[in-house]
Amino acid sequence: MSTSITYLRIKRAIEKNGECFLCELEAEVEQKYLDNYLQELVMDSNAREKIIQSRGFCNNHSYKILAEANKPTISDGHGVALIMQSITKQLIQDVSELKNLHKDAFSKIIANEKKCPACIHVAKSMEMYIKKTAELLASSDEISELFKESKGLCIPHFAALAYTAEYVEVNRRQAVLQLLSEVEKENLFRLHSELAEYVKRQSYEFSEADRVAVANTLLRSVEKIAGRRMRMQERS
Ligand SMILES: [Zn+2]
Ligand SMILES: [Zn+2]
Repeated sequence: MSTSITYLRIKRAIEKNGECFLCELEAEVEQKYLDNYLQELVMDSNAREKIIQSRGFCNNHSYKILAEANKPTISDGHGVALIMQSITKQLIQDVSELKNLHKDAFSKIIANEKKCPACIHVAKSMEMYIKKTAELLASSDEISELFKESKGLCIPHFAALAYTAEYVEVNRRQAVLQLLSEVEKENLFRLHSELAEYVKRQSYEFSEADRVAVANTLLRSVEKIAGRRMRMQERS
């Protein structure tokens, strides 16, 4: 991926002005992977081999790929069926070969986040984006100015980025860490006041419209503290 595309993606994500631009990027990377999987990777023999090796996607990505396949614009039950067929075939062999009942014998047949090709792809891409962001905060005035005006990062991404800043050139490192902390602290203060306002408006003196106006404060606080929602909303 060329630097300029990475640069533009980071810039665009900051400009979206959510509670964490790295969460924005992560959601984008994941969505692209899922779209691409059904359109291309499903027919790719290397990708097929990988998904058999991992015995499928993790729980989260299994349902996400299913939801993708069910979208009216894509409607690719065929692709998903082919993947599931390959995995099922492998599992038949696995189960037939199970000779002892030791716990380790089962770990091979259960998919998880460590083996899931989608999780691995997202983690690798985010490692690259986080490193690039740390470099840009040290070297690009445009990116550091945009970041100053942004809502900062969720706490997990703040920690990941601050940790990665250790790899920034020594004489710029302190400045990057200071910028990160200042922006984060400022935004935690902002959220703290917004929560106070939310609590205040629950009182009877306020109208329904007043409450609706601050309704998304709780979701944004969770996004700030815990990061983006990984799993799809449970169906009620
Ligand atoms: Zn985040
Ligand atoms: Zn996964």
